[in-house]
Amino acid sequence: MDLRIWLVLFLTISILLMTAPPSPREPEIPPGFSVLQTRHLTVIYEAQFTKQKALYFAEGMEAAYQRLVIKQGFRSGARRFWLQGFPTSENPEHLRTVATHEFFHSVQLSYSLKLADRFLIEGTATWAMREVYPECVECYIEAFEDWLIGGTDASTLQHLGLGHHAGLFWNFISDHYGGAQLIRRLFEHPDIRLGVDWPKGLSALTGKPFLDLWAEFAAALAARRAPDAQWLYPRAEQKTPYVPVPVFVGEWTGQPLTIEQSNWENPYPQLCSEKRGGACPSKTSILSVGSNLAIRYPYGIHFLRITPKSTAPLALHVEVEKEHTSNFRIYLVARRASGAYEISPLKGECVLSKPMEYTLLQVVLTRGLEVPGKYQLRLQESQTPDSSLCRRG
Ligand SMILES: [Zn+2]
Repeated sequence: MDLRIWLVLFLTISILLMTAPPSPREPEIPPGFSVLQTRHLTVIYEAQFTKQKALYFAEGMEAAYQRLVIKQGFRSGARRFWLQGFPTSENPEHLRTVATHEFFHSVQLSYSLKLADRFLIEGTATWAMREVYPECVECYIEAFEDWLIGGTDASTLQHLGLGHHAGLFWNFISDHYGGAQLIRRLFEHPDIRLGVDWPKGLSALTGKPFLDLWAEFAAALAARRAPDAQWLYPRAEQKTPYVPVPVFVGEWTGQPLTIEQSNWENPYPQLCSEKRGGACPSKTSILSVGSNLAIRYPYGIHFLRITPKSTAPLALHVEVEKEHTSNFRIYLVARRASGAYEISPLKGECVLSKPMEYTLLQVVLTRGLEVPGKYQLRLQESQTPDSSLCRRG
């Protein structure tokens, strides 16, 4: 039987792709379809797709096969692909990279992955675009700016509408923890085969609690160390002034300040719906101005921006309920006048004896599964001006 699986294509190309596993009996090519043969794959395309676009697509799939299957050892997935419809893109690079994304979906089908888990499925398929065509940054970063323009507040792992943007997390993990081989080993991990959620498998492979990995990623977002930062941040900054979008913006003036409520409007629901219509979080899912500070979703990320305006030694203190301390990960990300960032875990209190040495302080918080995610940030003059309790990471 010729099994065909339909996959909706990524981004703006409104076509459908069908993959078919190898069959001992070659199917008949229906009228109106033509065949392209690459070194390892067969691509069957509808006339409306056009031969030129099918060629670009086939090049991308073959490049993905050679890079991911032959070089990195992923299972081969489908060998025959059906292209149907009207691809709206004319850009050869765009067509090739989208092809790698779709090819990787066929690879994913040969593992025991939870296909409904868009964070894993769409995220790693988007990772594959960069793995095969790293030079074509503009081809794959479009969805990633969602993290920076405010999506962090509601970007839970379970958020079904936001799968592609997860590629940024997978790029980060791939860059820091073993590249394509780590992704492959995760797919093959015995826990994944047994149906265990991937964060546990990733934790086993990296030797770190998943929440620690997640917090490292969160701190990297604040320190402009996310993968492809030099392209990503300027794009996001065209849309909103503070990137990544904070929940609070304020100053250290030397006067005590207790921060309990959000004071910064998150532009994400509106920007997201302008960009792509549906599949965006509602305004109510994002912390609004005047709301008490709480990370409402597991693995949501909050950024609080403090600009030092006083030489008074600053003691920063984040308060969470005692029994939930282990559910939080908190970093201080401080920017010097040179533009260099320093990242330090913030446990309890952190003292900056010379706060004016920094042009910006960002407190970065994320949390695990436990509720509630309430917290407060207190700023006050330190009584121990000579000590620095912040550990540099
Ligand atoms: Zn996809």
